[in-house]
Amino acid sequence: MRIWSLVEATEAEGPGLRFALWTQGCSLRCPGCCNPHTWNPSGGRTTTVAELLARVDAARARRPRLEGVSLLGGEPFEQDDALADLAARVRARGLTVMAYSGYRLEELRARGSRLLAHCDLLVDGRYVASLRTTQRRFVGSTNQRLHFLSAAYTPDDPRFHAPNTAELRLDADGVLRVVGFPFASILAAFGPGARGPRESGATSGSGPTAGAAKTRSPGC
Ligand code: SF4
Repeated sequence: MRIWSLVEATEAEGPGLRFALWTQGCSLRCPGCCNPHTWNPSGGRTTTVAELLARVDAARARRPRLEGVSLLGGEPFEQDDALADLAARVRARGLTVMAYSGYRLEELRARGSRLLAHCDLLVDGRYVASLRTTQRRFVGSTNQRLHFLSAAYTPDDPRFHAPNTAELRLDADGVLRVVGFPFASILAAFGPGARGPRESGATSGSGPTAGAAKTRSPGC
């Protein structure tokens, strides 16, 4: 599988404290996408389900209140099989899985997605710049929908009704990272998102030494 980045714990990419994984590769190319650096299916780096599970386990050991894993993009459902295996094993650990996709739920079903069966929450639909919103939590444009695919969450949970948020994280390696919704003020300060941060906790990498607009898909 190919990924662009990951953050071991954030509260800006789904309910509760979550391990966030940005996949690499998206063929949908929504105009106005804030993560165009994740489009190239040959970009990012390769990894394995086993490596990612080890990172999730380590993150949970450090932060026992870790609630789940969020899959962002890029387009997670274009690496369906590998992420289905990852999601199934994440849920077997008692964690939840949330996915963000540019495909609509109906399209994912028509594609025969295996991953879908292992998701508790799905934000679906292309990002439409003219419909951009900051007022719907975890949603980037008003055409997108939040689906509750299991009993793990319910629509009346207040965590789904607050406006969008962003986090500025000063990590132990001295790198400022921005996670969450790409508010205009953040884009003005850090750029359009092309300067993605190194992975949080990574032992190697060539990321920037200053902050970067690190945003989710499709919440551009
Ligand atoms: S907004 Fe999401 S689905 Fe659309 S091009 Fe960007 S990464 Fe792909």
